[in-house]
Amino acid sequence: MAIASINPATGETIQTFHSLTQTQLEAKLKLAAESFQSYRHTSFADRSQKMLRAAEILENEKAALGKLMTIEMGKPIKGAIAEAEKCASVCRYYAENAQKHLADQIVETNAKKSYVHFQPLGPVLAVMPWNFPFWQVFRFAAPALMAGNVGLLKHASNVPQCAIAIEEIVLRAGFPQGAFQTLLIGSDAVEAILTDSRVAAATLTGSEPAGRSVASIAGQQIKKTVLELGGSDPFIVMPSAVLDKAVETAVKARTINNGQSCIAAKRFIVQTHIYERFAEAFVSGMRALRIGDPLDETTDIGPLATPQILNDLSEQVQRAIDSGARLLTGGRKLDRPGNFYEPTVLDKIDRSTPVSCEEIFGPVAMLFRVENIDEAISLANATTFGLGAAAWTNDPAEEAKFIEGLEAGCVFINGMVASDPRLPFGGIKHSGYGRELAEFGIREFVNIKTVWIG
Ligand code: NAP
Repeated sequence: MAIASINPATGETIQTFHSLTQTQLEAKLKLAAESFQSYRHTSFADRSQKMLRAAEILENEKAALGKLMTIEMGKPIKGAIAEAEKCASVCRYYAENAQKHLADQIVETNAKKSYVHFQPLGPVLAVMPWNFPFWQVFRFAAPALMAGNVGLLKHASNVPQCAIAIEEIVLRAGFPQGAFQTLLIGSDAVEAILTDSRVAAATLTGSEPAGRSVASIAGQQIKKTVLELGGSDPFIVMPSAVLDKAVETAVKARTINNGQSCIAAKRFIVQTHIYERFAEAFVSGMRALRIGDPLDETTDIGPLATPQILNDLSEQVQRAIDSGARLLTGGRKLDRPGNFYEPTVLDKIDRSTPVSCEEIFGPVAMLFRVENIDEAISLANATTFGLGAAAWTNDPAEEAKFIEGLEAGCVFINGMVASDPRLPFGGIKHSGYGRELAEFGIREFVNIKTVWIG
């Protein structure tokens, strides 16, 4: 894939970029390795001060940074500005908590003294997606840098300007040259970096095939990986739920970021007694969304990030319809420049078809009718993914059953699945492994060293 900024709302190519040459890449790897040797010895106080400065830059420049995101990948501007703010919050969280999370832990044993000591691993490669072009990177970079690692970013090829801007923010915040470098490279250059002995570990947020590839190459090298992959999150609604609130949240949970979020609610599983009421209100909520220019503050749904994503989505909807699904609203590409697709709702989906449980990356919702909670949980779990899950109920017994029975990295009761710097984030099954954020995230790329003194 060419490295280029192409405005998805217009199709206009804004700028194209050359991939790094072998010599340039080698210089960056060398700098990362050298920088790590000094950066690892900096104090938490020093890192923290720089991280707080990065938070300030993100906040002060959120309007311009938001515009950059919107122009490169099409997310509505309000969400883009909120993304810059959220990046500031993760910088602040780790600036304030990293030292506590990585403090030595005394463990009583038969030794005179024994404890756990945390040390950085080295340069970590981060392969990142375009959908939250700042957030995905900062939720890796903030803990990695606070732990004393250095970062190498291979961002998605359609968001090069975001990738460059992120490196600039880190440098302007005062981090040393080489602490965080953007590598403008295609995915074909990733293998050589993973096999380079100077690179200690890798994290990938993206699709399942990309995750398999990176994990298998890193596995051959016995290098640690964290994988944050796709999802087909269920959103379950039971009769005791506050229906209006559930519907309002359902619309938002499906369409946030133009429907291109790993933790978007994708399968809506509704108990039969409230199914018709839910479906009617949900369809009307989806129809009411404003589609249009993502730079307009009143826009709810902008374009999909690339023509390929638009075509894939359209093909998925067609497959569902061909196998008997009913179209309740939408189902069309918009007849205008840019990668626009109507908010769409399908029901009566054949549960034996692949499309019923694959990831749908766009504003397309599938509704399923179930008789009871057991059927709801069983359908929710009938996917190879296990990222997030939301369940709406006001019955304490049902709540407990959902928390225990849903196969997912997180369960949200009466709320929308979302990430929060204070809580761990990640998936199970084909949604990946490892965790980001909170104490768990910063412990992924450290040597958990046991110290025993007799
Ligand atoms: P993608 O095609 O897998 O791309 C993600 C990144 O991986 C890009 O930088 C891409 O580079 C690179 N890449 C692709 N194939 C690769 C390979 N074989 N080896 C090494 N690198 C490779 O995914 P996407 O379309 O950008 O993002 C959408 C996917 O990400 C969805 O499945 C979504 O659910 C998932 N996602 C997951 C999370 C989470 O936290 N679990 C968050 C956001 C998104 P190029 O751009 O150069 O191809």
